[in-house]
Amino acid sequence: MRTPLMAANWKMHKGPGEAIAFFNGLSDAVADVKDREVLICPPFVDLYPLGRMLGESRDRIPIKLGAQNMYPTEEGAYTGEIAPPMLKEVNCDYVILGHSERRRYFKEDNAFINEKLKAARSFGLVPILCVGEREEQRDAGQAEAVVTTQVREGLGGVEVGSAEELVIAYEPVWAIGTGRTATPEDAQTMHAQVRAILADLWSEELAGGIRILYGGSVKPHNVDELMAQPDIDGALVGGASLEVESFARIVKFQIVS
Ligand code: PEP
Repeated sequence: MRTPLMAANWKMHKGPGEAIAFFNGLSDAVADVKDREVLICPPFVDLYPLGRMLGESRDRIPIKLGAQNMYPTEEGAYTGEIAPPMLKEVNCDYVILGHSERRRYFKEDNAFINEKLKAARSFGLVPILCVGEREEQRDAGQAEAVVTTQVREGLGGVEVGSAEELVIAYEPVWAIGTGRTATPEDAQTMHAQVRAILADLWSEELAGGIRILYGGSVKPHNVDELMAQPDIDGALVGGASLEVESFARIVKFQIVS
């Protein structure tokens, strides 16, 4: 059984004041949710206050913390960067790696993302590896090939012992922040393909337990049908994660059969 992971990527939104208020509001709003994992990935400056809140009352706050990025080494002369042990120190469990905005604006390639992924794992962080094709690649019929390369190169040389050690997020770039969502059927097709690659890399059993999230304009009105797909195990949510009410509704998706 894969526990759904409902993750918020705040990108460059909310300083500590707003983040703390949101954390309190969301904790109340999802207090009754038991069968899914809730994750917030805020800007770096929010991690310390939110991590302290978690450290003081993990029982009251049913939310986990993740970072949006990290540099792949323990420490050193890398001005402006954040190291994996620093994230662990502030109670982060997860780190998003290879988001399409980092690939696009910061020129991150599969090799660098692979380096980060290995470093994250070596420091006990669970990487959320983001993959997804751009619009022109989909139009040219290359979506599956692009995603296959991103998954295989992103995971090159990685040995995973249990399914909880890794999360994949399929995020078609043309659907991020645009209000356009992949159809549940198209998303399902790609998720099944990603799972087949994981099975080929390791084993069917392991692949069957690894969570594959969908990201790209997930909203309260479309989350239910996306989550009804057999290989969609959660969501990575940008815009709709910035308001407590809309993100809480996404966390509380309902499968109507
Ligand atoms: C994202 O940032 O990963 C994302 C999917 O954003 P949005 O939900 O706004 O499309």
